[in-house]
Amino acid sequence: MPPLSWRHHTLIQAALSRGPLKEKEFHSIFSDVTGKSLDSHKQLFNEYLGKINMELSYIQFELRACRNQYDGSVYYGVINTVADEQSKLGTKYAVPQIAFYKGIIEAIVQDTTAQGTISNIEALNIRLENQSGSSEVPPALKNFSMSQKEKAIHEFIQDQWLCATSDGNIGLGVRSFLDLRSWFHNNEIPTCDVCNEAGIKADLCSNESCTVRIHKYCLKAKFSQTRNEKVCPGCGTQWPYVVTKAEAVEEEEDTEVHQQPPEPLRRKKSRGSRQVEEEGSNEPSSRRFKRSENNEDEELTGQSQTQPSTQTSRKTKLENLATVEVDNAGPGPSTRRATRTSARLHR
Ligand SMILES: [Zn+2]
Ligand SMILES: [Zn+2]
Repeated sequence: MPPLSWRHHTLIQAALSRGPLKEKEFHSIFSDVTGKSLDSHKQLFNEYLGKINMELSYIQFELRACRNQYDGSVYYGVINTVADEQSKLGTKYAVPQIAFYKGIIEAIVQDTTAQGTISNIEALNIRLENQSGSSEVPPALKNFSMSQKEKAIHEFIQDQWLCATSDGNIGLGVRSFLDLRSWFHNNEIPTCDVCNEAGIKADLCSNESCTVRIHKYCLKAKFSQTRNEKVCPGCGTQWPYVVTKAEAVEEEEDTEVHQQPPEPLRRKKSRGSRQVEEEGSNEPSSRRFKRSENNEDEELTGQSQTQPSTQTSRKTKLENLATVEVDNAGPGPSTRRATRTSARLHR
């Protein structure tokens, strides 16, 4: 394979030094360096990503896209597919801060209401002793003070490992969404029934005994097709959703906030498709973590929507994402890390 051109290098450089980049920004860099508009050259864009990732995979890096699940916007960034938190965060953060970050992430993904957040107080009360992985608690963890925790939270938010959500809580930052995808899967974080990605921030089926959860933006895509019944794909319970004219208009104008997903994620736009808005949400107080087995890959690939998907579920959208995924679920340090954390998550 011929070496990467300056164009490839520019894209990598931009993602590395300025990333995570909003999809729009990344696309515009692509257009600038190639002189081709993305709308008419999606194939070329995917080839670029494929080639870049072929090269990056030799050093266990990957250029990938992810969704910010709180607002649905898409970001591109380069991640390290192998190293543990120490080498990802270690250049800036010390051991207790990294342990604190891990504690916060674990608390957020275990939010049974799928809000994907914890309060500041909850975060400050996370005990680092539990993060040490042994009965010998290093003094650095024991002595990590409240003010140090507050400072760390602030820095994690600055660096986009965490985010401050609009309701004043703490959620996952874009870097974590990019970085933790394999970890989510390996730890069986409940997935969205539509796109099969981890449903950190998602809407839950109102049926308490049903474990289906769906991202808000996936619901929107799914239910904007008027011929689709507004019911839970798992248990058939009515899913409270309405479409109003005002919302449909508002939605059209609101392109900045609700960006289009990357090409492979994107649905074919049907004529007369209407935007939908959630009417209300029911959030049962307790949920079991259980991976959904009824995934509707068709939804996102734009294929048949009449047949429920069978066991093609693991071919997730995001694994297809821009054909950029390197399989990092295989043996290697990343697996070791996941297993170790898994034990803790399931303790
Ligand atoms: Zn989804
Ligand atoms: Zn259900």
